[in-house]
Amino acid sequence: MELETMILGPHELDKAAQLLQAGKCVAFPTETVYGLGANALDPEAVKAIFTAKGRPQDNPLIVHCYSQKQVREVVSEIPPKVQTLMNRFWPGPLTLVLPKGDLIPPVVSAGLDTVAVRIPDHPVALALLEKADIPVAAPSANVSGRPSPTRAEHVLFDLGGRIGAVVDGGETGWGVESTVLDCTTTPFRILRPGGITLEKLREVTDVEVDPGVYGPAHTKPRSPGMKYKHYAPDADVYLIVGEGTPAKIRELGEHYKRLGRRVGVMAVTEHISLYSDFTVLDMGSKLALQEISSRLYHLLREVDRTGIEVLLVEGVSEEHLGMAIMNRLRKAASNQVVQT
Ligand code: AMP
Ligand code: MG
Repeated sequence: MELETMILGPHELDKAAQLLQAGKCVAFPTETVYGLGANALDPEAVKAIFTAKGRPQDNPLIVHCYSQKQVREVVSEIPPKVQTLMNRFWPGPLTLVLPKGDLIPPVVSAGLDTVAVRIPDHPVALALLEKADIPVAAPSANVSGRPSPTRAEHVLFDLGGRIGAVVDGGETGWGVESTVLDCTTTPFRILRPGGITLEKLREVTDVEVDPGVYGPAHTKPRSPGMKYKHYAPDADVYLIVGEGTPAKIRELGEHYKRLGRRVGVMAVTEHISLYSDFTVLDMGSKLALQEISSRLYHLLREVDRTGIEVLLVEGVSEEHLGMAIMNRLRKAASNQVVQT
């Protein structure tokens, strides 16, 4: 059904909060990407998120709260180490998977007995959550499988006519989604890397990284979202890593050009001049990982807009925020990784 999607400014949060309370889906900015929110306590409202996104029913949603008091209403237990993480990293891009409270309907957690929660660090998101005064289930506000939205225009491109409203709060900060940390295992385990890095978490507690972060898991995925193709443009994407990256990219680029295909190269600023024969997308400086993460999804969307058919992407270091960037690039490349 075609809806009129309202575009609201950050000063129209009363309206946005009313829509949420009335069971409608509202997209809003967070410090990571735009989320598509609905009342987490209302199964019908939550189902509308899955419908609008075309999201598989078995992929659970993150519940967004504005206070730790509200978090305590949606989970059944907060172990002391988890409390330490909350105090240190919230509000912020860290999602904690905890035993689910009874208030949260199964559609939110995809039938699991755990629930993912976080307090976002964005003034618009926090003000909206406080006004609505309900926990809000919110996955990224994109059509399932497409790059996550970092601007209101991305949300409208994907979901215009399918959702009640979008609150336009400008460009988001981190540009990649939150770190998802499973706190129901020992040690805690990163299911999805994000803004709060492994190095930062390890300053507080023992943490391991799920093998699925580095490629297709050999075991059953612990985070259902890990098994889906994600963040992918329509182009064929190859991720090139290792010492010989620039030479390999030029070789592959020439090869695909000879086949008559439109080739794009996504590279760090320092290497742009090496690829002047191709359409080049500047990822940002290799010394500024947050610049790269904040541009990533916009660039992947640009790839489709500019008609690039084969995209060759330079890998970055896996350290710090690089782990999240590389995780998303591997997914965008459907794990077509060329090691040089
Ligand atoms: P999204 O909000 O679409 O960016 O994705 C949320 C991510 O959190 C997905 O990868 C989900 O599979 C994951 N997630 C949400 N709830 C749980 C949970 N209870 N246990 C494990 N992973 C979860
Ligand atoms: Mg998503």
